[in-house]
Amino acid sequence: LSLSDMVEARRICVCVRKRPLNSKEVTKNDIDVVSIPGNGTLLLHEPKQKVDLTKYLDNQVFHFDYSFDESSTNDLVYRFTAKPLVQTIFDGGVATCFAYGQTGSGKTHTMGGDFSGKSQNNAKGIYAMAAQDVFALLKQRRYSGLDLCPYVTFFEIYNSKVFDLLNKKAKLRVLEDEKQQVQVVGLQEMYVSCAEDVIKMIEMGSACRTSGQTSANANSSRSHAVLQVILRRRNQVHGKFSLVDLAGNERGIDVRSSDRQTLVETAEINRSLLALKECIRSLGMDSHHIPFRMSKLTQVLRDSFIGENSRTCMIAMVSPGMSSCDSTVNTLRYADRYCQN
Ligand code: ADP
Ligand code: MG
Repeated sequence: LSLSDMVEARRICVCVRKRPLNSKEVTKNDIDVVSIPGNGTLLLHEPKQKVDLTKYLDNQVFHFDYSFDESSTNDLVYRFTAKPLVQTIFDGGVATCFAYGQTGSGKTHTMGGDFSGKSQNNAKGIYAMAAQDVFALLKQRRYSGLDLCPYVTFFEIYNSKVFDLLNKKAKLRVLEDEKQQVQVVGLQEMYVSCAEDVIKMIEMGSACRTSGQTSANANSSRSHAVLQVILRRRNQVHGKFSLVDLAGNERGIDVRSSDRQTLVETAEINRSLLALKECIRSLGMDSHHIPFRMSKLTQVLRDSFIGENSRTCMIAMVSPGMSSCDSTVNTLRYADRYCQN
């Protein structure tokens, strides 16, 4: 049994990825407070102060299925997270991969990568690598007889509203039928004939993603972006892979200096991330009650939380700097399944 087979056998896999300190942090003398001793553990050295004002670092341990340090490439992260899920959709299942973390922690770097080709890093993201593997599997003899046709959708959820990124950001309604099947009405499903087609769609859609202003980052992402690869067979959905670049979960937004829109956005993001946590938790426990109606995000992704054949992977991204500590603790607590907070 290979490692990726082991990932495949689990319904839920939770990982953490630490990015390197960036030049801005280095310039500001920010220090690295995150270390990854290996094997799925992560140590956070959180600065604290005693009553007598002496400062110390409080070491906390967190546990994950995998922990990726700052030297890991997108390719490595992909192999242990989303790659095994590509197989799931060929076997007729529903796969979902989430990128979670504060703005600037590396969600888009991990999922979308850098399409300009200028970056010296291993820049291809999970979207592109998953697309390549989908087309590689489609050509394999054991699947070529199934007549599977690949389609993509790309949409964002902003303030509980769904916008089609492949159709000029048309605002779409979400309906649930009597069988509890959730439909995003009018969502464009584009046929794709090669991995490059998928990348073209992502480039097109990414150009119109919503961004807003927060005190943390002038161009932070305040919406969830969902890319879906759908395999259809005789027009029925055979398998579906949702790749989700979640909205930033930053802490410490200043309530007094923020405008109303920022506060509404933040409340909405927190609500949907809480709903996601609850749904993932019930997936892990094989619970029969899945609270997917708690948010638009979980409602739209309902299929991800039900059924025998659903597989989910959560990649929690953390910034290494002491200046990001509050958000980092928040992210680690959210993702660490063994932590009861
Ligand atoms: P987010 O989408 O979570 O807001 P980004 O993916 O945009 O964050 O990352 C913020 C910045 O950090 C980008 O310039 C990105 O290229 C860089 N970055 C993120 N993760 C890594 C990494 N693992 N290695 C190198 N640079 C990274
Ligand atoms: Mg981003």
